[in-house]
Amino acid sequence: TEEMMVRSEKMTVAGQLAAGIAHEIRNPLTSLKGFLQLLQAGVDRKEEYFTIMIDEIEKIETITSELLYISKPLTDNKKLEPVINMLEDIVTLLRPQASLNNVEILIERPVDAEIICDRSQIKQVLINLVKNAIEAMEEPGKIILSTQHGNGKIIISVQDEGRGISTDILHKLGEPFFTTKQSGTGLGLLITKQILEAHHANLEIKQNPTKGSTFQLVFTDSNEE
Ligand code: ADP
Ligand code: MG
Repeated sequence: TEEMMVRSEKMTVAGQLAAGIAHEIRNPLTSLKGFLQLLQAGVDRKEEYFTIMIDEIEKIETITSELLYISKPLTDNKKLEPVINMLEDIVTLLRPQASLNNVEILIERPVDAEIICDRSQIKQVLINLVKNAIEAMEEPGKIILSTQHGNGKIIISVQDEGRGISTDILHKLGEPFFTTKQSGTGLGLLITKQILEAHHANLEIKQNPTKGSTFQLVFTDSNEE
């Protein structure tokens, strides 16, 4: 019947994810096999090959640990948390990676908002967004973390001065394995969206008027409910 045809043409979400995983893991495996064959045949430049092989193994490691994170059921451990504490933790955690890239992470104060959330999950979201912000930066610059509230909403913003996002890929962000990076996994925003959904919060992505983009987490203000 027509309905069955429509259904068989559309891959299930599980099918899409499985195909993506297979693809993402097969590529580094193919490359590993190739280099092992070269080494077996006895070639020079062994050091160089080992370096590439370790990179490929690291790629598989990253993908599998991110997939494990996705497959873990989100536990419901929500409490009222001051946003400033989470922002300060993120700055401490990511400052070394930022300085390596000549990027400064700043908190725009005051941050007096509190949200009901699972602290470790929202920290994971902020880590994903700030890492992306660092990776988007093409020259020295600033990442600004800030909050706003009003109209029954609390907004946490991560603003960068990076390369920005072209409108033709905007709708693909958060699709499993969608990445524009050489060594990206394309799982960070998927995890982010999954966690926000469990918090009934939304992700808004904006192009800055000057340079870069801003990712906003939009929560309902529990004090105004
Ligand atoms: P990954 O970081 O592994 O590529 P993500 O899901 O975290 O996967 O991000 C998907 C894609 O979204 C990135 O490859 C990049 O193209 C785009 N992106 C995310 N954050 C930013 C940002 N702050 N600036 C520009 N592009 C971004
Ligand atoms: Mg990322």
